[in-house]
Amino acid sequence: MGFPGTGSEAPHRAPSKPGHSQEPLLPPPPPLLLKGHRQACTCCQSASHESRARPFAPRLAGLWPTPPFCPAARRLVLAAAEEEEEEEEEGAAMAEQRSRERILCLFDVDGTLTPPRQKIEPEVAEFLEELRKRVMIGVVGGSDYAKIAEQLGEGDEVINKFDYVFAENGTVQYKNGQLVSKQAIQDHLGEELLQELINFCLNYIALLKLPKKRGTFIEFRNGMLNISPVGRSCTMEERIEFSELDKKERIREKFVAALQREFADKGLRFSRGGMISFDVFPEGWDKRCCLDILDEERFDIIHFFGNETSPGGNDYEIYDDPRTVGHSIQSPHDTVRRCHEIFFPETVNES
Ligand SMILES: [Mg+2]
Repeated sequence: MGFPGTGSEAPHRAPSKPGHSQEPLLPPPPPLLLKGHRQACTCCQSASHESRARPFAPRLAGLWPTPPFCPAARRLVLAAAEEEEEEEEEGAAMAEQRSRERILCLFDVDGTLTPPRQKIEPEVAEFLEELRKRVMIGVVGGSDYAKIAEQLGEGDEVINKFDYVFAENGTVQYKNGQLVSKQAIQDHLGEELLQELINFCLNYIALLKLPKKRGTFIEFRNGMLNISPVGRSCTMEERIEFSELDKKERIREKFVAALQREFADKGLRFSRGGMISFDVFPEGWDKRCCLDILDEERFDIIHFFGNETSPGGNDYEIYDDPRTVGHSIQSPHDTVRRCHEIFFPETVNES
């Protein structure tokens, strides 16, 4: 039988080559496919399969799945096509990796990834693992590193589960599992102002009458003081009791107002966070601190997810910053739902 487009039914005889003696008769190549190229088969005058087959192998493999070449040439043609396919897949994987590296999702911790002061739920942790395959992820919390690590994993797992970990509003920074740098509030404020501040807070707390008072009223951190009228060592029940009272009597709000009056021109900022405390820190040392470091990373988009995004909340400044796309969320499950909608739109209708 003839071959399409050849205009000839006469098979030609291949030159005698070692290893090809079983296939003495071969058809001529189709001129359409091979226009501009030399024959790919060693049986048909070419010096080398390798050098002739590769340049047009994908076209041959795609257009003519059973080319009438000798088995050796055919193997090379198919191998070249396979190689090209692998290169395409590799290229696609690299493009996916590049696009993953251009987007960062930053999460607040308490109330956003975990219930306040509690451990992350397994389904939220599993979701973050999936999310990390599509975008880079980081956390920015007001707590110190030890507390964040305890809430988000076992031991030091947190620094390997997240690309970035910013503790104490980003004044302590980890990237790819390594501590990058730390800033200290005492170096910035000076000992005199720091003591005035601590003494004022202790005096104010001493005059407060509350249903319960426990220990650790002032927690000294790298980038802030955390002030708690009930004391940070209270139990979960005592925490809830204080929180309910605070909603009615605005204990923290009045405390902050007194501090703002007393330290009006000292370059201090105050923000509530969680249920029982508020933070005092130098102007500009809010969660936006971490954005200064991230500026160098040149992300295309930085998404921020937080639950205290109204003015006075400890997520407000970073949520409102033009360098982020802010998302105000209600709970860890709300965070997962919002991320699903944004980063897994193909699965939204499944649930
Ligand atoms: Mg929060």
